[in-house]
Amino acid sequence: MAIATNERYELVIGTESENRSAEEYFSTTDPATGDPIAEVATATADDVDRAVTAARTALPAWRSKSPVERGQIVHRIAERIREHADELATIESRDQGKPLSQARDDVEGTARYFEYYAGTADKLEGESIPLGEDTLDLTTREPYGVSGQIIPWNFPLSITARGVAPALVAGNTAVVKPAPTTPLSALHLAEICAEAGVPDGVLNVVTGGAEPGVALSSHEGIDQLTFTGSVPTGEAVMRSAAETITPVTLELGGKNPAIVMPDADLDEAVFWISAGIFTNAGQICSAADRALVHESIYDEFVERIVARAESYTLGPGTDDPDMGPLNHAEHFDSVLEYIDVGTTEGATLETGGEPLDRDGHFLPPTVFSDVDNDMRIAQEEIFGPVLTVIPFADRDEAIAIANDVEFGLTGGVFSRDIKQALTMARRIDAGGVYVNEWFGGSTETPFGGTKKSGIGREKGLEGLDSYLQTKNISVNLDERND
Ligand code: NAD
Repeated sequence: MAIATNERYELVIGTESENRSAEEYFSTTDPATGDPIAEVATATADDVDRAVTAARTALPAWRSKSPVERGQIVHRIAERIREHADELATIESRDQGKPLSQARDDVEGTARYFEYYAGTADKLEGESIPLGEDTLDLTTREPYGVSGQIIPWNFPLSITARGVAPALVAGNTAVVKPAPTTPLSALHLAEICAEAGVPDGVLNVVTGGAEPGVALSSHEGIDQLTFTGSVPTGEAVMRSAAETITPVTLELGGKNPAIVMPDADLDEAVFWISAGIFTNAGQICSAADRALVHESIYDEFVERIVARAESYTLGPGTDDPDMGPLNHAEHFDSVLEYIDVGTTEGATLETGGEPLDRDGHFLPPTVFSDVDNDMRIAQEEIFGPVLTVIPFADRDEAIAIANDVEFGLTGGVFSRDIKQALTMARRIDAGGVYVNEWFGGSTETPFGGTKKSGIGREKGLEGLDSYLQTKNISVNLDERND
């Protein structure tokens, strides 16, 4: 199969004969030019209902397959993804805007999710709990049933894989709702899954905006929900889930602190923090949004990170520049508004801030200094290539500023003193902390947030807990009761 972009994409629901053409379509556009790439079906609430029904119909056969067989099928998905890595990366880069090499990394990460979880398929063991000689007590780990997965637009393919791989391995079926501005890679992934042997109905994809998202999160037939996106939408999803008492995993935003201590290797800190905030044009929940820098090295840090920011090349993702465009017009406007807010609040715009004079949503790397942590640009998630640099006087003040936000997704410490770095890492209120690096961890490591950054963990073995529930079976062995 050669993957090329289709002109038109239908929903992926159940068997081919169950799937029908949509009544309406929307365009997904190239963020580098604004040109339409393809027409994509707009799912209605009825379509979501059909997808959930298809997933439920496919569930008994999928969950009763042997774990070995499920693992083999899921492993084949990883192989197919690697066979089509270049095409998938090109599609992702065009639809999302990210540089091709970053899209390639995402595709490899996607393959790794399937490969990693495939390896766990035959190791989802229960326990035997000693209750005395008259009882045999054991636990089994069972799938929830139908998993509903709502995906954002910043890592469309890899976040889909992050939820679908463990869900399928655990014996669930799934209905996935991609973001409306980046639907293509999930649709191609569904095709690859079918080729790898995933039976019809096990993985369904309903494309569109909020309407299918609302329909999915409030559907009675969904047994488990995974949502990645913004805090307000996460709240709405959680409210819907409450009405049907459906367990929910929420991966929400961040406003992550990167603390640079006076003894840090400054070259290393500048390298990682610029990668942390400018990769994917800053559209990363775990980005290094706030650099908290000791006052003794503050000016030097600002000077160096500005020089680095100004060295970035910008262009369409498919040309593989250092940075691509922001994903869509509404988001672009919101990021530009934050630049105005920062200037009005009295922060110093050191570099960037002006959109490029060309088609597409291009904003160069932007750095604000003289930022106070009370400012909106220090408190609210901008989700763009905008770094705020905040001074601090001592360790306690650094920790206080780091934790003085409503988010708690990631944080980081740069210091040559490992004892100091670890002590501080323990005091940062976040689901993950990086020491002398950024975006540490991998497929194998748990990821998620504290506070408003979310509930639950994805990735790693812990990520499986979102897709498996424990059943306790207690057996009476007391012969006196016979
Ligand atoms: P969003 O909340 O606007 O949309 C996310 C998804 O929800 C989309 O598919 C959207 O169509 C759907 N949706 C919209 N309204 C809905 C509703 N009322 N009910 C159900 N679904 C609905 O988020 P976004 O703008 O696509 O993504 C950016 C946000 O995602 C940022 O805040 C970012 O931090 C967060 N994010 C978090 C992580 C993480 O793992 N923590 C990863 C990536 C992105």
